[in-house]
Amino acid sequence: MTHPAQTKTIAHPINTAAHSMDQLLWWVIGISLLLAVSVGSTVQAQPVPMAKTQAAGFYRMMVGNFELTAFSDGTSPKDIAAIMSDPAKVRSEFKKMNLAMPYQSSYNVYLVHTGKELVMIDTGRGGDNGQLLKNLSKSGYAPSQIDAILITHMHGDHVGGLSLAGKRQFPNAVVYASQSEADFWLHTKLEDYENPHWAGNAKRARANVNPYVQAGMFKTFDGPTQLFDGIQSLPTHGHTPGHSAYLMTSQDRSVLFIGDTIHCAEVQFPHPSLTIAYDVKPDHAKAMRVTLFKTASEKGHIIAGPHISFPGLGHLSQQGEGFRWVPVQYQYQVQASE
Ligand SMILES: [Zn+2]
Repeated sequence: MTHPAQTKTIAHPINTAAHSMDQLLWWVIGISLLLAVSVGSTVQAQPVPMAKTQAAGFYRMMVGNFELTAFSDGTSPKDIAAIMSDPAKVRSEFKKMNLAMPYQSSYNVYLVHTGKELVMIDTGRGGDNGQLLKNLSKSGYAPSQIDAILITHMHGDHVGGLSLAGKRQFPNAVVYASQSEADFWLHTKLEDYENPHWAGNAKRARANVNPYVQAGMFKTFDGPTQLFDGIQSLPTHGHTPGHSAYLMTSQDRSVLFIGDTIHCAEVQFPHPSLTIAYDVKPDHAKAMRVTLFKTASEKGHIIAGPHISFPGLGHLSQQGEGFRWVPVQYQYQVQASE
């Protein structure tokens, strides 16, 4: 007895062949159409636009029991060689490192949550360029929650975010700066500045700091001062007459907020004798840079630098006449401090 399936197959050999031919024809037509459509679509469809946006500008890590957040206040391109003490050397160093000019200058602001208070270090540029408030909010905090703001110095890219049109941007924050910084920028007669640029800086400093002075929310300190549990000021005069660094310590970990002790990490870490036109006293600024960096490398402080490429956090080790910069290792999740 023959199996029905076999019977059927054998019984219609010609029809089956014809059927296969039909199928083949349809496959050929189908594939041709598909090809035509796909070739056509490659030519006609618009490419996906480039997104050209960046991730939110904050970076967070635990340091001992304290939470440290770095905020980007944005970046701006500048020909930094032109404003440094040895432009030819800076240009040749950039060339050796395959770095392009203009240089992308970072503006970073830092926030420490001590477990009791929220303490911010500087406020960035403010105005249309300032990105601090946007990034503060994206990081989960509001300006009204900030308890204190420690000012490293009163240049516009550090106090510019304090006030907007005479209104305090951080309504509950007490602003701290050294007495000598306040004397130089807030209390000197504008016509007494030996450099006309400084009178302009002073006007901007006053517009930003005075609303806090008038509200009784401005305090000064003299010399090294313990401002909060785990946070102290250190006089680091040079870049400005009352420039201050701040040292944060929790358990055996520490962060040194260095303000404008450095502007161009790529050349001033290996060559700390290079100075910048913004230094009020370049020789003092140079000496202070070396002293502060030696201390940081010996004690193992994490450096927090407002103008070091965001987030501007890393360690230093001495290397010959200069210093080697090692950025903190990126953590995708905020982990407990080791
Ligand atoms: Zn600065």
